[in-house]
Amino acid sequence: MESKIERKCSNCGQWNVGNQELCQFCGAPISPQKIIETREEKRVKEEKEKPLDKIDIYLKRLKGHPNLFVRILFQIVYSTWVVFMLIVSAIVYFVALTPG
Ligand SMILES: [Zn+2]
Repeated sequence: MESKIERKCSNCGQWNVGNQELCQFCGAPISPQKIIETREEKRVKEEKEKPLDKIDIYLKRLKGHPNLFVRILFQIVYSTWVVFMLIVSAIVYFVALTPG
């Protein structure tokens, strides 16, 4: 039964005989398993290559600012922000724990 498997390549449209993972004509993935894997790899890759958010670029620039005062100010604001986020998430956590 298994030797009769035929898969149509979604890339080039050719039929591949046998249980193959890749199209023998163009090399595109044709087995469902391989297609899912490839899609997942592509998603991870895109995630990595995604350009930084505007805010990230801005923060990076501030971190390496030539003016010492700006750097110190940034550190203060940044640590305040981190502490603030910690408190907020702690509150959210406790609210979520409380029934009703
Ligand atoms: Zn193909």
